[in-house]
Amino acid sequence: MSTSPYRSWIEVSLRQIADNFNAIKLVVGPAVEVMPVVKADAYRHGAIEVSRALVDRGARWLAVSNVEEGVALRQAGIAGRILVMADFLPAGRVAMLEHKLTPVLHSLDDLRELDELARQRGTLADYHLKIDSGMGRLGTRAAVGEIHQAITAARNVRLEGLMTHFASVSDFSSRQTGEQTRYFLGLCEALRTAGIVPPMAHMSSTGAIAYGRREAWCDMVRPGHAIYGYTSPARGKGPPNLLHVKPALTWKASVLTVKEVHGGALIGYGGMYRAPEAMRIAVLAVGYADGLPHRLSNKGHVIACGQRVPILGAVSMDMTTIDATHCPALKPGDAVTLLGSEGDVSIDAQEMARVAGTISYSVLCAISSRVKRVYL
Ligand SMILES: *Cc1c(COP(=O)(O)O)cnc(C)c1O
Repeated sequence: MSTSPYRSWIEVSLRQIADNFNAIKLVVGPAVEVMPVVKADAYRHGAIEVSRALVDRGARWLAVSNVEEGVALRQAGIAGRILVMADFLPAGRVAMLEHKLTPVLHSLDDLRELDELARQRGTLADYHLKIDSGMGRLGTRAAVGEIHQAITAARNVRLEGLMTHFASVSDFSSRQTGEQTRYFLGLCEALRTAGIVPPMAHMSSTGAIAYGRREAWCDMVRPGHAIYGYTSPARGKGPPNLLHVKPALTWKASVLTVKEVHGGALIGYGGMYRAPEAMRIAVLAVGYADGLPHRLSNKGHVIACGQRVPILGAVSMDMTTIDATHCPALKPGDAVTLLGSEGDVSIDAQEMARVAGTISYSVLCAISSRVKRVYL
């Protein structure tokens, strides 16, 4: 059992992240660029450290969600290409160009505005244009002719990539991915026929890589979840998962106190748990303010002394109580594992998400900044 000076902390293996990156490259092959997605602070693994590790291992492109995230990487000295996938707000446009971030434009109006800005500044900017192929979120739904006209008219900027994003990529009971792929590839082909041939097209996130949707790999793929060691299970009759990746993050918390309670004792807010008999409980220095889902109350498990033990009662803001009856050695200052493994017992973000009624992405992104980060 390890001890630590922290209340709660995550240990991030940069080697595992690099191994996951390599595993993805192996699957898509050398002709397809792999652009790791490091938005949302690299799904809480730490965008700067993760980006540095990936660039060291040969990543030429990184993707973020907004300008602020891109600027933070530039200020940390990250020099490669950075694609800003979800932001083209007026307030961030100048910073986008000044920091040589590459915008994804979501409409033909965005394109006219970028063109005008580039003209005023006398710089040539590259951009990627997002097509709404059926997800119904960001991206243009304009017809080919209109897109062609807007691209041709924007003389101060250069179309570097066409992209789209899937709504149901791991769901093999739905036809949506096939329909989106046909729409997007058809549009690319029509533009090509009309003389517009951008250097890249890209549409695949983790699910399209894992389940071998090769027609969607095009010139570049955009994995996020897989970089951090996760793939979502396929719904319906999916093909085998091609990706061999492992979680890179372990989440731990310290024991604040251990005590005996009598049979019938109530534990925590609302008296949600009543001890059926005399038992030993441990109070952990982690709660929902650290990102531990409140919905694990009376339902979730943690790993203490190499065993899976239940969470008793409500997860509170700063504390969580567990059953330590079968861990006689557990004492204040010891560490327990919320996400990760001890020996052959493990809990990952997918399991935690299932119990909490959410998705693994949300479990990872919820780990708050109050939780210290340690790099291995
Ligand atoms: C977040 C995101 C990705 C990465 O998705 P994963 O499922 O984490 O691999 C790729 N593309 C876009 C546009 C995204 O927003």
